[in-house]
Amino acid sequence: MALRDAHDRIIRDLRISLTDRCNFRCFYCLPNGEPPLARKETILTFEEIAYISEIFVSLGIEKIRLTGGEPLIRREVPRLVTSLAKLKPGLQDLALTTNGFDFPRHAKALKEAGLDRVTISLDSLDREKFLDITGVDALDKVFTAIDSARSLGFEPVKINAVIIRGRNDDELVEFAGFARENGVSIRFIEFMPLDSGHDWSREMVVPGREIRDTINAVFPLKLKETSRGSETAWKYEFADGSPGEIGIIAPVTEMFCGACSRIRLTADGQIRTCLFSTVEHNLRDVIRGGASREQTVEFIEATALKKEPRHHINDPEFVQPSRTMSFIGG
Ligand code: SAM
Repeated sequence: MALRDAHDRIIRDLRISLTDRCNFRCFYCLPNGEPPLARKETILTFEEIAYISEIFVSLGIEKIRLTGGEPLIRREVPRLVTSLAKLKPGLQDLALTTNGFDFPRHAKALKEAGLDRVTISLDSLDREKFLDITGVDALDKVFTAIDSARSLGFEPVKINAVIIRGRNDDELVEFAGFARENGVSIRFIEFMPLDSGHDWSREMVVPGREIRDTINAVFPLKLKETSRGSETAWKYEFADGSPGEIGIIAPVTEMFCGACSRIRLTADGQIRTCLFSTVEHNLRDVIRGGASREQTVEFIEATALKKEPRHHINDPEFVQPSRTMSFIGG
């Protein structure tokens, strides 16, 4: 059984936002603090998330990533992971994206509950700059999070770094050095127009090609695979055989919508078929309204068919979605 869209793409990857709240104030995401938060009663319970996930997996979803907001702000995430892990082996990959702040406290319980992988965000290796970018003096905590992920055997540990012109694009080589020394995968992400301040501009985007060339000039890189399938990142290894990996995610300058296999569920139960969707599909009301399992399946299948062929960031008529990355779930 496979969930298909109307453009012959198979949907295999579900991203679930557990909360729209965040304890960081990254200037490129929440520069003015949190936008109005969803009302508590609209947020899906873990039981609802587990029910929906079981249906998605029965429809061919192979990967689930828990995100937010900051997912670990939600209490008892290991309890949710335990119920999602029961969906294996149909579910092949259960992952979490976190800013790392609370990760060390929960890492062991998450591993024992069945979490397969973790991605930790890290936008600077410099304490002052980290504070300037995120609004929180927590670089040491993020390093501790990376260490605990590695020591617990979450392999490979991935690091997300959003690169923004004039803020952290002078750290590309240091980041690559960090990947080599720590044997982690650093994924450089182009800045997308999903910020609550609507301050995004093309001049702030550092193109993926420039990121690769800058690193390649110091640490020669070798492309790992000539096709990235439905993956977002072009992955490179170090030509000298050093451990570590570089990933380049370039949704703005090298659109990869044609191979997109993702669908998203917001914390308040809306399906989003694209990060840049301007419409949402209210699955929460469907399940809370007493729909049968069969009717819920029909709703999900019909929604998948509405998945947009591509984003329009580079078109003159592009309209930034009103919901920010923190709400949609990155
Ligand atoms: N709080 C978690 C974290 O910090 O990883 C999970 C949610 S966060 C929205 C997920 C990822 O999206 C982070 O790596 C973050 O840097 C990235 N992100 C947020 N806004 C972005 C934007 N406008 N463009 C590109 N990436 C963005």
